[in-house]
Amino acid sequence: MSFSNLGLSPKVLSAVEAAGFETPTPIQDRAVPVVVAGRDVLGIAQTGTGKTASFVLPMLTRLERGRARARMPRSLILEPTRELAAQVAEHFEILGKNHKLTVALLIGGVSYEDQDRKLDRGADVVIATPGRLLDHFVRGKLLLNGIEILVVDEADRMLDMGFIPDVERICKLLPFTRQTLFFSATMPAEIQRLADKFLHSPERIEVAPQATAAATIVQRLKKAPDDPAGKREALRALMREVDVKNAIIFCNRKKDVGILYRSLQRHGFNVGALHGDLDQHQRTATLDAFRSGQIAFLAASDVAARGLDIPEVSHIFNYDVPIHPEDYIHRIGRTGRAGREGFAAMLVSRRDFKALKAIEKLLRHEIPWIDGAPSEEEQRDAAETRPDGNGRHRRGNRSRRDKRPSGSGPHTGHPAKNHAPKARASAPPNVHHGKERDHRHSDRPKHEHTGERKPAHGHAAPPNQPNKPQAAPQPSRSRQQGMGDHVPAFMMRPVRVT
Ligand code: AMP
Repeated sequence: MSFSNLGLSPKVLSAVEAAGFETPTPIQDRAVPVVVAGRDVLGIAQTGTGKTASFVLPMLTRLERGRARARMPRSLILEPTRELAAQVAEHFEILGKNHKLTVALLIGGVSYEDQDRKLDRGADVVIATPGRLLDHFVRGKLLLNGIEILVVDEADRMLDMGFIPDVERICKLLPFTRQTLFFSATMPAEIQRLADKFLHSPERIEVAPQATAAATIVQRLKKAPDDPAGKREALRALMREVDVKNAIIFCNRKKDVGILYRSLQRHGFNVGALHGDLDQHQRTATLDAFRSGQIAFLAASDVAARGLDIPEVSHIFNYDVPIHPEDYIHRIGRTGRAGREGFAAMLVSRRDFKALKAIEKLLRHEIPWIDGAPSEEEQRDAAETRPDGNGRHRRGNRSRRDKRPSGSGPHTGHPAKNHAPKARASAPPNVHHGKERDHRHSDRPKHEHTGERKPAHGHAAPPNQPNKPQAAPQPSRSRQQGMGDHVPAFMMRPVRVT
């Protein structure tokens, strides 16, 4: 297998070589010749498979002929989130370095002015989130009848985020004779319907079939108490125990991302926060700082679970057991990429046993416990006893629990124990590397809104300060947590991370 046999132009091949891509990935091998030939593609592939280059490379080749006209872009790539759109733009920058193509990135959260200017100059490629694209269209800044190539990327995620009506509307504004490339990790019925409607005799290319082994990810579980303060302490212990280069820490709720972020900062961790309610500049700055290693830990909601290409994440910590089992697959998929070894550990408290079982059912294997599995009796108790004393789990009532001062938890009051994380400490003694199986998910919930439309009830976490090794603690107005507003000086020392 070689890139030179795929029909790519010499300019593209030279950029591929400069990018250090030696052999095409399976999706590239199969999709590139089809796209170069001008045919439609239905690609069933996840991020991490090289699918972005599988459409960027042949698009570059095809766009070498012809020129863009003012406000009439020649190709359009739709992405569900701003981050993904920005990543695709980066691919165009790297792989299109021998081309003089104009790429316009139309995403929400940033001003219209620059985007208008790019469109006025004539864009060969528009990379957009659906909402912002339609905004430009409605404002009369953009004509869509010059589009020769349409890419709908991460279609199933568009579905999760409620963008399908916008996508359909956009498709109807495009010329009928265009080439359409449609990518989705899964094919729920609604996505299949859309593909049937907008693709013409597509070549169906499926890579990484269900139950693909993510053999390089070591997965482990760790018991954690139910109370938030104790759970945070368990997380810190886990983070210090293992050999962490950089890690994403996933929470189920945006609010908890903010709480955890502030708590980890107070405890000397070099951490940033990422969730869908942060404004675009904060999100971009945080991601850049994480990519460059300025911050080593990222507390994140599921906004970071899919699609973000953050190379070499050594660890994933699931602070919360995801409610939907397929989110687990996406979260841990951020580590162990491109054949590298990855490690994913999850805190599990009594109330999480049921959600854990669902994950293990999806994986079709059990995940080993770092410190011994809970006994059957414990598991039975957890199923039967009610944490509120009434015999009922209060799953939907986390916020009320969280509002308790965390000083009431059993693990607070030991600040001296809370040192900054070891940089590259040794792996936990009873953690063994093993082969694990990974499965693609079937569908996803609508529980995280990450595009340009913010939920009305959204809450904004405090801004990150990625350029500072450690920001000052941010006192919580509504409640006292951990040690309260006072932080001893030794905890304010910068943390060095190799
Ligand atoms: P994607 O699935 O498009 O998100 O790509 C995942 C990562 O793989 C990105 O960092 C790409 O730059 C990289 N990549 C894509 N194709 C290749 C290739 N043929 N060889 C090496 N790396 C690649």
